[in-house]
Amino acid sequence: MAKDRILIVEDDKSISQLLQVALEAQGYASKVADTAREALTLFRSDNPALVLLDLGLPDDDGMHLLAQMRLIRKTPIIIVSARDQEAQKVAALDAGADDYVTKPFSTSELFARIRVALRHRADAENASSAEVLSAGGLVCDVDSHEVTIDGEPVHLTPIEFRLLCVLMRNPGKVLTHRFIQDEVWGYPTDNNYQTLRVFMASLRRKLGERASSPRYVTTEIGVGYRFIAE
Ligand code: CA
Repeated sequence: MAKDRILIVEDDKSISQLLQVALEAQGYASKVADTAREALTLFRSDNPALVLLDLGLPDDDGMHLLAQMRLIRKTPIIIVSARDQEAQKVAALDAGADDYVTKPFSTSELFARIRVALRHRADAENASSAEVLSAGGLVCDVDSHEVTIDGEPVHLTPIEFRLLCVLMRNPGKVLTHRFIQDEVWGYPTDNNYQTLRVFMASLRRKLGERASSPRYVTTEIGVGYRFIAE
């Protein structure tokens, strides 16, 4: 079986070397780009399976590079950055990053996230029959990632989209925080499900939900959430 090729975009040689050695030990092939310009060239020519992207690059901001890569392909991109503010993470995820790892990182955590991102991509590619979920005016085309409400498009980030799919595949069932976290992220994000709450709040906002009269998602206090069955 061919090795998955991972593109490391990182200008700090001590980090890129550490990553290369660790990736090789895990059975991945890798290439390093230490500028945004080189990264974009390799991204186009090499078609990597996944990108690890540092935000602080010498010739461009990684956020700009992320946007350029997103226009070219849906390759999973994991941000690996020292920028640890919540707003920065949300901005990167909104711009289409699949995940975000803060430096200094543990390699075992990073590899868990790499496996999840590659698995999600493989699942998306292997979904042969067109899966379209719908309920009460809300339509979610799993293959094309298109979501509409009463025919109007709703723009979701990759995580919000996965969250919606998990909910819509389990209509009427109470889903625990833990279950949803496992389905969407595949690993524990934090102890009190704060990350899940943040993404659920933004998903509900985009679905036009009102807390007083939810149309699609109800909160099961202390337990999780339920997608309202028709
Ligand atoms: Ca850097």
